[in-house]
Amino acid sequence: MRFSEVIGHSELKKDLIKEVNQEKISHAQLFLGKPGHGVLPMALGFVQYLFCDNKQTDDSCGECPSCRKVQKLQHPDLHFSFPTVQSISNTADGLISEWREMIDENPYFDLNGWIKFMDPKERRPIIGKDESQEIIKKLNLRSYEGGFKVMLIWMAEEMNQSSANKLLKVLEEPPGNTLFILMAESEDLMLQTILSRTQKVRIPRIKLDDLSAYLREQKNQSTGNADSIAARVDGDLIEAMEFLGDHHEQDENRERFIQLMRVCYKKNVLDMMDWAEGIGGKSREFQKVFLKYALHMFRQSLLKNYTDDILIRVSEEEADFLEKFARFITGNNIQNFLETFSDAHYHIERNANPKILFTQLCFEVMRYIHKA
Ligand SMILES: [Zn+2]
Repeated sequence: MRFSEVIGHSELKKDLIKEVNQEKISHAQLFLGKPGHGVLPMALGFVQYLFCDNKQTDDSCGECPSCRKVQKLQHPDLHFSFPTVQSISNTADGLISEWREMIDENPYFDLNGWIKFMDPKERRPIIGKDESQEIIKKLNLRSYEGGFKVMLIWMAEEMNQSSANKLLKVLEEPPGNTLFILMAESEDLMLQTILSRTQKVRIPRIKLDDLSAYLREQKNQSTGNADSIAARVDGDLIEAMEFLGDHHEQDENRERFIQLMRVCYKKNVLDMMDWAEGIGGKSREFQKVFLKYALHMFRQSLLKNYTDDILIRVSEEEADFLEKFARFITGNNIQNFLETFSDAHYHIERNANPKILFTQLCFEVMRYIHKA
């Protein structure tokens, strides 16, 4: 894709262009940021610029044969690596056509989106040791077109220890004209040995004005709506799109949230265990989305109580629920709820045992909901 198709980040684009034009390309880079900030689109824009035969001062041309090949994700010197469900395919090659289709549809997606797209059973994908082998094999091939060989590794934090270790040597001494771009959400989940061998490129949140302009121009939102969504999602396009679109997911989260509040309010321990069991069996990504949704609902409840409907942005069904529920969220317990659910999100990201975590969460909710 061209840089112009990547939302916002004008300064960073300039830096990347300068890096290519001054031929100061670092051979192992780690693009850090949330998927919704545009980490993958930025990497694709950068690679297309690097390969373009007719570079403009501010973007790739989009028309030369190299640009076209990158756009179709079929450039022979551009390789992809990403997490796969091992029983579907233990290497990225086995899912490359799904990968192309996904990016073609919309390059702004996260691990949860990818899981849903590739596996109806929504199992957890990883970058396993067979894939690391594959990466090394590909990088030892000769460059087809005589220039750079590029390896994009998406969601590099999903590499397990043994596959990461396999890559260390090649990161240290990459074969000539190799460019590694690893992408990850946060440094915390990456091995220190990988961090120390890569140059970090941070992709910050999308600026409010840029995101709002995108929602107005590309998604036909009114100025008020666009500004309000942009303000709420902290510069994250994927979250913005969730507000606009995926009602199915929102419905499921709402039901789960209502159920949690109900069983905890009634102090029904068996139902609480059932609830924890249910969400505990879902993917980590699903659990994270749910916890964020819950945080959103607590904030909306408080807003409803204190601002009398002004500023509230919820669907009709959510508004119906909040009508009765909001009074349970007050100054006495809001901080407890926000902390508990943010902590849970933090620990899920760091591979806490989900069944234990959600069981504890239920008991905390039971305590706090009676504190209102
Ligand atoms: Zn071009």
